[in-house]
Amino acid sequence: MLRVFNPPWREFVTINVMQKLLTPTLVDRFGREIRYLRMSVTDRCDLRCVYCMAEDMTFLPRKEVLSLEELEQLAQMFVGLGVQKIRLTGGEPLVRQGIVSLVEKLAAIEGLQELCMTTNGTRLAEMAEPLRAAGLSRLNISLDTLSADKFHTMTRHGQLANVLQGIKASIAAGFRHTKLNCVALKHYNADEAGQLVEFALSHNLDISFIEEMPMGEVTSHGRVAEYISSDELRAELSRHFNLVPSAEQTGGPARYWTVAGAQSKVGFISPHSHNFCGSCNRVRLTATGKLLLCLGQEHSRDLRHVLRRPGSTNEELEAAIREAVQIKPEAHSFDVQSSDVQVVRFMNMTGG
Ligand code: SAM
Ligand code: SF4
Repeated sequence: MLRVFNPPWREFVTINVMQKLLTPTLVDRFGREIRYLRMSVTDRCDLRCVYCMAEDMTFLPRKEVLSLEELEQLAQMFVGLGVQKIRLTGGEPLVRQGIVSLVEKLAAIEGLQELCMTTNGTRLAEMAEPLRAAGLSRLNISLDTLSADKFHTMTRHGQLANVLQGIKASIAAGFRHTKLNCVALKHYNADEAGQLVEFALSHNLDISFIEEMPMGEVTSHGRVAEYISSDELRAELSRHFNLVPSAEQTGGPARYWTVAGAQSKVGFISPHSHNFCGSCNRVRLTATGKLLLCLGQEHSRDLRHVLRRPGSTNEELEAAIREAVQIKPEAHSFDVQSSDVQVVRFMNMTGG
């Protein structure tokens, strides 16, 4: 009989994976535990950022979008399966009717440790306080530039002043550890990275610079021409700030540095230059209830179909989620050298 060499560590790994499969936790084929759900609550938005959407968008008919009750049911199910953190996103989550009451419901789910939101900040001036009162833990606010003209260009019609007021309101409402998200494009805003870090430092905010991802077809710029690597950006920032590598591991894609003498962290999300898939602990739910297993691949499972099937049970929903996690791909396959559309859906459809 042919004997295959079976190293002892292999047996240990097999037992470990088996044990994980028997717990209520969601574990994929590569042993990654799913602890983080990003929920898109709408595909709609009041801005049209050049890297995220086409100028002329057709949004989903409302009946295709999950209701607030369906979102709550799914959130409860995921938390029951070991998810500890939920981030509400979109599109722009603050344009969804009833968002504050959804936050209130989700924040009350037993076992959920963190309920966060990523927003463009345009409506925070009036909504920061109610969101805080409803139990939202933390905010990420997108801010690509401090120039009103550039903001107008990059968002195709937005007013920077609204976002700056929103940031102020979020601080006044008591949000802490807020992070600014900045998608860096070489010829649009990369020259402002230093000013954006200064802004973050002066408001005790963290900031992450994101390499643009090739989601959906954009017409306003060439993605290859606009690519600037995190390393290049960090080298430039290091000329002005004393950046100290941080040991902090968030389980997320960002790698962090601290600025000597300040509280703020500076992060880099580098899907192209530093692949972050090995530690990926997240899945994404689109506004239509499609569970996406990877930002940069099309593997998915339609949970809305299961949810809306007459007579469907929680057991069937749980089984569908468990099966879906088993098709989570090992890694994304974004190629920075290619100008082709690599993932057909836009970021607003994905729940970025
Ligand atoms: N509307 C909210 C906002 O802008 O913060 C939430 C949704 S938005 C899709 C989530 C994040 O994805 C934002 O920080 C945005 O800058 C980022 N984003 C959008 N398109 C992107 C792309 N093609 N590559 C990298 N990041 C992108
Ligand atoms: Fe809207 Fe956010 Fe996309 Fe900008 S990045 S268009 S704010 S969803």
